[in-house]
Amino acid sequence: MSRIDTLPPLRQVIASHQLSARKSLGQNFLLDLNLTAKIARQAGDLSACDVLEIGPGPGGLTRGLLAEGARRVLAVEKDARCIAALQEIAAAYPGRLEVIEGDALQIDPLAHLTPPVRIAANLPYNIGTELLVRWLTPPDWPPFWQSLTLMFQREVADRIVAQPGSKAYGRLAILAQWRSDARIAMSLPPDAFTPPPKVSSAVVHLTALPRPRFEADAATLSRVVAAAFNQRRKMLRAALKGLAPDIEDRLHSAGLKPTDRAERVPLEGFCALARALDA
Ligand code: SAM
Repeated sequence: MSRIDTLPPLRQVIASHQLSARKSLGQNFLLDLNLTAKIARQAGDLSACDVLEIGPGPGGLTRGLLAEGARRVLAVEKDARCIAALQEIAAAYPGRLEVIEGDALQIDPLAHLTPPVRIAANLPYNIGTELLVRWLTPPDWPPFWQSLTLMFQREVADRIVAQPGSKAYGRLAILAQWRSDARIAMSLPPDAFTPPPKVSSAVVHLTALPRPRFEADAATLSRVVAAAFNQRRKMLRAALKGLAPDIEDRLHSAGLKPTDRAERVPLEGFCALARALDA
């Protein structure tokens, strides 16, 4: 197997730093450095970018990103046991890797990043969706990032790229496709990870659009789709009745029928409804 750098193999790193995987931290590690370099390539040209990586663990993807030429990587890791291993990578790539020990849900990484920024991560499954939704729903657009290259459970990846009428269509599809181009870039079987998770995974690549596809307020749109898909089989007038006392009128003025069901309403319809609710 070819080498992407001169650091020790990841199995050796894990053994010497005693990084046995912890389920509570969503730890399923990628140990094949050729695979992590391939994932890093899905993020595009990194040579002029800072890359934010959440959950570097023992550093497989971190090494892929650096070997693929990332200008700088900022890696945020909650597990204190991983920090020494990550510092060894930082020493091998002087000035190009900054490691922050902390919880990605609590830390604001912006002060540590210089634009342009791309985000790449093999996300801990328990916080992956929450982080994605945060990155997709800031009040202003464009966001601080140009692209997101993120590993998810296959079922979550399918929800991000889903089209109206499909079972996977819902809140994630709408929020992702409203302001970005989203596609599945790679599929990975469980045995690509150590330990193998129960389900398959996929890398999703999202590119931020310069402007949202349709005008809407992010907070209102989030509220509408959360309510609509919370009860996806119900008619819109029932699912959304808590949002406004005159919801039927608002649905009409958005060009929607009160008897429509959320899973058939396209992105444009939800944005029109968000505008009608804010009018
Ligand atoms: N990137 C590594 C890889 O590909 O082998 C590890 C990926 S593993 C699926 C998820 C990583 O996220 C773990 O290292 C875990 O400790 C870390 N993690 C879990 N919760 C976190 C949080 N709230 N903030 C930052 N890192 C977290």
